[in-house]
Amino acid sequence: MPDGAIFADTQAEPASVYKWLDWLETQLPYPLYRVTKGSLSDAALKMRVTKDGRKFSTTDIPFFTLSAKGVKGKIPNRSCTFDFKISPITKELRKLAAIKRGQKEVTVTSYIGISWDEWHRCKPSRDAWVQSRWPLIELRMERRHCLEWMEKNGYPKPPRSSCVYCPFHSPTEWRRLQTEEPEEFEKAVQFEKAVQFEKAVQSVKSQTRENFHSTPFLHRSCVPLDQIDFRSDFEMGQLDIFAADHSCEEGMCGV
Ligand code: SF4
Repeated sequence: MPDGAIFADTQAEPASVYKWLDWLETQLPYPLYRVTKGSLSDAALKMRVTKDGRKFSTTDIPFFTLSAKGVKGKIPNRSCTFDFKISPITKELRKLAAIKRGQKEVTVTSYIGISWDEWHRCKPSRDAWVQSRWPLIELRMERRHCLEWMEKNGYPKPPRSSCVYCPFHSPTEWRRLQTEEPEEFEKAVQFEKAVQFEKAVQSVKSQTRENFHSTPFLHRSCVPLDQIDFRSDFEMGQLDIFAADHSCEEGMCGV
């Protein structure tokens, strides 16, 4: 039995996830700790300025990019998962398990819910005092097996946890958000517009790369979110083809 569960809140999850979490908390036989570094949206939109007037943001989301010459790309050095998920979770773990400075001895086991169909997302722990385990991998359970298990045991269907505007969304997830949670989809649309405005002058860290002088988008087509027809066969057909690179490889988002 785990001693507790930790939820790192980016403050940008859809309403369905927060509702689910409230329900889940009433079901779990162990405490649920909610931690947050604040609003990821605010951090991504807050631009800092260097002495010579160039703008940069301290947290990068994995946007797709389109240069003035029409070249598509992707921001390579995203930091949102580390800053807003891994780091707050590690901080809470340190506190709960009373980890000493410089500790190497393993005293914490971290269970991460990556399913068998996403095994490539499993990574060893960054900290010597934590050993990671992936129970769904050990049980060879794919996402569909989890959903079947929930249904068989009389539980509701769980939503997938990730920010409403995450560029890792599959076309199916965009479509689900658009039809089932239109207010959340609209938040993503507005976020894309805001980030395009704020990042018009790009990061000083990346000034030598063409992509960073480009316009950020949430969808790989580099078409504004509210202009994409997620019902089209082409869009929906991309789900499986691109499933692997539509995942957060840090293994913390979307579980
Ligand atoms: S869900 Fe997406 S946008 Fe949110 S922290 Fe994870 S990778 Fe970043």
